[in-house]
Amino acid sequence: MGCNIAIDGPAGAGKSTIAKKIAKEKHCIYVDTGAMYRAMGLYFLRNGISAGDERQISEKCGEADITISHVDGEQVVFLNGEDVGGFLRTEEVGNMASSISVYPEVRKKLVELQQRLAKQTDVVMDGRDIGTCVLPDADVKVYLTAGSGVRAKRRYEELAAKGEACDLEQIEKDIIERDRRDMNREISPLRQADDAVLVDSSDMSIDEVVERILSLCREKEHGRI
Ligand code: C5P
Repeated sequence: MGCNIAIDGPAGAGKSTIAKKIAKEKHCIYVDTGAMYRAMGLYFLRNGISAGDERQISEKCGEADITISHVDGEQVVFLNGEDVGGFLRTEEVGNMASSISVYPEVRKKLVELQQRLAKQTDVVMDGRDIGTCVLPDADVKVYLTAGSGVRAKRRYEELAAKGEACDLEQIEKDIIERDRRDMNREISPLRQADDAVLVDSSDMSIDEVVERILSLCREKEHGRI
């Protein structure tokens, strides 16, 4: 069977870690859509355009040429030809990505790119609107979540491991604010698709979550879901 898996959920639920492992198991490409919104956010940060300036953002998002390629299964994101992978994972860029992702022009551009990629090859794609909007016909849809305290702790540990200064309380506040914005925006808000399976990873290990999703794929292959 083709492999077309949508994984949505709030920040820090473990989507990218899990999606990468599933892609490896299923021999398909992992597409991290959050990285595309982050690359777009980085473009506006670098150009000093504020998140609230919808007019400028809508006008200028056409100038940010975002492309991706895959090297050894890892997604590489290019912004106007530059590999920007090293700049995307900061809280500043994440918050900017969340702020500009409310604008229709930004979403239209990135959704088109994502749909083009999924047409070319089998994908495991993670984000906020994959099951509801980008790939409504995905074979398997998962809504992956965890409590905000658990998610903040995971983000904290991820940043601390990279030696970045961070504050757990502030991270949880940012996560809650980001969830609020993602769930309440007008276009493609974060929500569980009607046909998505809810997986709460608060008390699950990475391997348990991976196994749960692989078992959903097997059930799908055998026509049980
Ligand atoms: O997943 P990640 O934290 O990298 O995403 C950064 C931000 O990009 C999210 O908070 C969300 O606002 C936005 N995003 C989105 N739709 C997606 C993926 C990410 O709106 N499919």
